[in-house]
Amino acid sequence: MAVQFTILGSGSSGNCAYLETDQARILIDAGFSGRQIRQRLATLGRTPETLTGILVTHEHSDHIQGLGALCAKLRVPLYCNRLTKEAIERQFQAAFDFRIFSTGASFEVGDVVVDTFSVPHDAYDPVGFLLRTVTKKIGFLTDLGHATKLVIERVRQANVLVLETNHDMKLLQDDVKRPWSVKQRILSRHGHLCNDAAANVAAEVVTSELSQVFLGHLSRDCNKPDLAHRAVRARLDQIGATHVGVEVSSQDAPTRTVAFD
Ligand SMILES: [Zn+2]
Ligand SMILES: [Zn+2]
Repeated sequence: MAVQFTILGSGSSGNCAYLETDQARILIDAGFSGRQIRQRLATLGRTPETLTGILVTHEHSDHIQGLGALCAKLRVPLYCNRLTKEAIERQFQAAFDFRIFSTGASFEVGDVVVDTFSVPHDAYDPVGFLLRTVTKKIGFLTDLGHATKLVIERVRQANVLVLETNHDMKLLQDDVKRPWSVKQRILSRHGHLCNDAAANVAAEVVTSELSQVFLGHLSRDCNKPDLAHRAVRARLDQIGATHVGVEVSSQDAPTRTVAFD
């Protein structure tokens, strides 16, 4: 059976992706309500009851909202590091089936090897992932203020990359809803990647093996899909990486499913 990968939704108020292989059905973050995640899995003909695990990058609510429904009620195993576990326990006060990993370590969920690495973001111990299936590798880079050397090295092997394009710098600066302190937080080295920073990350990690970049975690007020797309597409074209597809994911609906043999 082919490996299938679908972003069920991504944006600054909810993030969740789904990977299915012969031996694993994994969510990467669960940042929608249990009901929303159920509905979005149903579009793929799947149910939360058949999940083999949920990987959590960090404890912000746009990544963990659905854990109560999925992990407390359905007992889906929840993979995270210790500090993230403690933060989750403070928010939910429910008994979860935690599987603790050390940041930087790798572990297996069925036939998927999960590499973990630290990312600079204002959470307790935020991580990115490289999910290695039998044939392909999928990198996750959302929620990071800047891309460290380590981050670039860890996702350089990816065939598919989920990359944060949180905001357009000008739209964020001009935004009237956000107080200056919030803007400072977003712009800090432990905040979020803007479109241009993400474009540079894409240019740094690209190899002949990278076939698809999904742009994610867009701010509803401070970004637009075409701005994000244009920034990353232009940068990749500039360095001759025309073989890489670029698609923008949405908060509201799943992306198309990418399938590999
Ligand atoms: Zn987030
Ligand atoms: Zn976050």
